[in-house]
Amino acid sequence: MDETILVVNCGSSSIKLALFNTSHQKTASALAERLNNPDARARIDGDDTPVSLPSNSSHQQALQALVSAFEERGLMNGKPVSIGHRVVHGGEAFREAALIDAHAIAAMEDCAPLAPLHNPVNLIGIEATRTLFPDSPQIAVFDTAFHQTLPPRAYRYALPEQFYRDWAVRRYGFHGTSHYFMVEEAARRLNRTPATTSIISAHLGNGCSITAIEDGISKDTSMGLTPLEGLVMGTRSGDVDPGLFDYLASRGVSASETHRVLNQESGLLGLSGQTNDMRSLCELADHGHEPSTLAIDVFCYRLAKYVGAMMASLNKLDALVFTGGIGENSARVRAQTIQHLKLLGFTLDAELNTHHGQVSEGHISDADSRFPVLVIPTNEELVIAREASRLANVN
Ligand code: AMP
Repeated sequence: MDETILVVNCGSSSIKLALFNTSHQKTASALAERLNNPDARARIDGDDTPVSLPSNSSHQQALQALVSAFEERGLMNGKPVSIGHRVVHGGEAFREAALIDAHAIAAMEDCAPLAPLHNPVNLIGIEATRTLFPDSPQIAVFDTAFHQTLPPRAYRYALPEQFYRDWAVRRYGFHGTSHYFMVEEAARRLNRTPATTSIISAHLGNGCSITAIEDGISKDTSMGLTPLEGLVMGTRSGDVDPGLFDYLASRGVSASETHRVLNQESGLLGLSGQTNDMRSLCELADHGHEPSTLAIDVFCYRLAKYVGAMMASLNKLDALVFTGGIGENSARVRAQTIQHLKLLGFTLDAELNTHHGQVSEGHISDADSRFPVLVIPTNEELVIAREASRLANVN
């Protein structure tokens, strides 16, 4: 059996695992969720029999159970030749993926206050896999690293310098692994090299961000100090007036409560009052539910405004690219967004927008469009597997 690369994505209550062979083909994947809850559960994708977990299973226990299940089913043979971890925040310490050693762990711990919900749990995942496979090299791939090329005019907030100097308050950007994959994949489809390709990449999933990439390098992005800034998202508000905090405090709402609502009860969910799920929202809107129609309108309009904003940071544009669950699947969102961008010269082919992928390598713009528009499925796991190979010198 071929050697295995293990890709680990640890969330606060979940673990996603993927196995790749050394040719970077995915061979299996698995999910454990509701960890640290009485109804913790796990399964291997494509397998109907659940993997049994103890009640209140920890990340460590779930990882152990899933790895044993992979082995029992003959999906994994021996220790992985490399283990790649998704890590959310690399701060200014990490400009690219890194081999995990004591120094890297200390630097990730230093970044933890910037991503308190994510980095500590990423570190738990690293520790758990290290206990299971002490001899396998481990690699961290950061959501922020791709955006470390932002120029100061894009990453600095207009705040006193001390905020940046003493407290690292700046824009970092996220979804970097996905945006990096977009420029690689767009280059391939446009018969170019990534280093000569400039795109605007819209990653639209439950979290949403948009990035301007010039000649393969991130120049600006919509998420900031935290993944709350920018576009409208499933439950996150994106941009709001920071004056909101003081105003709501005068109405008796604490800053931490406002922060919670902005993260968990806003965005598509807040506007529609129904759901954070774009597919359900489109169905509700089709049945005349006006708050859902408004939620989609605000989502698309904000996105179109950001496409315009991202053009200010580029000297040329080879394509606008849509990805993520919404970007890849919602013809309605793509069409409605592009409607706002006529003045900038974007136009879609309605037929291709509905049936992209099958016929056109993802091209959905028409012949009159000033810039190509593409739909490209993202594949962050593949990027992590490749980086895990590269840094562990797997051939
Ligand atoms: P992700 O976080 O990338 O998995 O994306 C999740 C989002 O994609 C959810 O809002 C889903 O409703 C949305 N999505 C997935 N499939 C469709 C679809 N066919 N039409 C509209 N939205 C979709």
